[in-house]
Amino acid sequence: ASGNSEEPQIDGASVLARALKEQGVEYMFGIVGVPVIEVAMAAQAAGIKFIHMRNEQAASYAASAIGYLTRRPAVCLTVSGPGVIHAFAGMANAQENCWPLIVVGGSCDQDQENMGGFQEYPQVEMARPYCKFSARPSSLDKIPYVVEKAVRQCTYGRPGVSYIDMSGDMIVGKVAEKSVRYVQNCPPPPPMLSSPNSIKKAVDLLVSAKKPLIVVGKGAAYAGAEWVVRDLVDTTRLPFLPTPMGKGVVPDSHPLSVAAARSKALQEADLVLLLGARLNWMMHFGAPPRFNPAVKIIQVDISVEEMGNNVYPAVALPGDVCVVVQQLLDEFRQRPQQFQFPSSSPWWTTLNAKVTANQKNVEAMTKDLSVPLSYYAAYAEVQKALPKDCLIVNEGSNTMDIGRTMLPNNLPRHRLDAGTFGTMGVGIGFALAGALWCRDYAPGKRVVCIEGDSAFGFSGMEIESIARYQLPVVIIIFNNNGISFGLKNEVWDVVAEGDRTLSVPPTALAPDTRYEKLIEAFGGSGYLVRTITELRESLAKAMADTKRSSIINIVIDPMAQRKPQEFFWLTKANL
Ligand code: ADP
Repeated sequence: ASGNSEEPQIDGASVLARALKEQGVEYMFGIVGVPVIEVAMAAQAAGIKFIHMRNEQAASYAASAIGYLTRRPAVCLTVSGPGVIHAFAGMANAQENCWPLIVVGGSCDQDQENMGGFQEYPQVEMARPYCKFSARPSSLDKIPYVVEKAVRQCTYGRPGVSYIDMSGDMIVGKVAEKSVRYVQNCPPPPPMLSSPNSIKKAVDLLVSAKKPLIVVGKGAAYAGAEWVVRDLVDTTRLPFLPTPMGKGVVPDSHPLSVAAARSKALQEADLVLLLGARLNWMMHFGAPPRFNPAVKIIQVDISVEEMGNNVYPAVALPGDVCVVVQQLLDEFRQRPQQFQFPSSSPWWTTLNAKVTANQKNVEAMTKDLSVPLSYYAAYAEVQKALPKDCLIVNEGSNTMDIGRTMLPNNLPRHRLDAGTFGTMGVGIGFALAGALWCRDYAPGKRVVCIEGDSAFGFSGMEIESIARYQLPVVIIIFNNNGISFGLKNEVWDVVAEGDRTLSVPPTALAPDTRYEKLIEAFGGSGYLVRTITELRESLAKAMADTKRSSIINIVIDPMAQRKPQEFFWLTKANL
């Protein structure tokens, strides 16, 4: 405590909460305990919505999803030691996805440090590799400075994560109210644009390419670039395809989408305009055999350091994707001749033929309604039941890969999945965050969370958090009794005789598990589905229930697989 005892005092928890509120933080997810109970209470008092969850991992995933959806970070609040460590999962995931997130960790009292204090751990140091900024305020009156810096660091440049450490003594410690100076609200990042010469060079390449392609990544989705990117596609008539979370920036139903011919388009394109997507594993490193060895890349990214990662770009366009795409459009429009990539070009003929062939293939697979259902048959039915504007959460191995192609997105930032880090277990936290966002920003919009049975298991208990806040989520579990594949019940009985640790395949989960019953424990509705008719009926009931959550447990053939692929994601030979 400082100053004269007559002066009004304020505790550290309240300074922190007010500073966060001042910086536009609207949601705090977390789990309370010593020493952060006061922080959660102060946050509520300051008008920040506190969402209490069951595991910090899911809380950190949920908070990061809010950052992606709103471009303003949410906070994940954790207790000291193990609480912070659980949140590292969400910090790593957000950092890899380039999503803003602030984690506030309680820590042991400073006078117990280096003594084996309760849950003592070098949190500021340990958090550092998981974030862009990690600090403990040096005094109570400095808390607002650190909070402003945390917001700025996680939203400016390439978005990422900030960590703020609050020791127990700082949380309850008091300071004279008038000595605290709250810092002005950190504005959204200032516009960043590319040089006019580079823009000219890029447009020169685009108008002369024989096989051009636009790739729309989740950086474009995050940036809110949908209006300019749609304008660019419509103006130039260039073929485009989205990355998984780039879906919806331009609607999947757009006639110039070549998503259904993804492999072909990537393999043959001679020029790729990359809008907020990295040439990492998801984009096959931009390398043969998945890419044309002679491909030229025009790289648009907020992060200058990203330029040239794996492939040196023909033109590097650093800057905000909204601004840079507008610059490209202005340059196109300035030219004497309005450029449109001709629909009669051989490139379109190749792409259209492949799109048609692939669509036919998949359509044939959806027609096989034999029981147990295949992924494709079940997805075709789910597709019919989804409202056009719903927010889709999708994770699992086959469930996610097939879902990416089978579930259309018409709106940007309406698909949340395992992302760059390939993190399984993000789904239920994302669904909760999505449902809150819908409640507050898009009332009436539904969240549909489609998960593999294994993915669901990681954070399944968060269905209690969802129920507690009365958020209606439709959870659809594609249950194939395992990871990638499982065993049928009758086979299970045979292999599982004797020592199960030796005989149960590592991919298998207990067969025929009734996951739908779990939601009933929390007042929701569960549906076990074996046939297409049962699926149709339960989807109709679940979608109609706008008050409570549902689980639809679809029994999928344990040996069901994706359609035959020309390439496998991760095999070395195909890199
Ligand atoms: P995807 O998974 O869709 O391929 P990535 O996560 O690999 O996308 O890439 C997203 C990229 O977008 C990152 O390199 C990031 O720096 C970039 N990015 C983020 N925000 C912006 C923005 N406002 N403008 C341009 N690029 C951005």
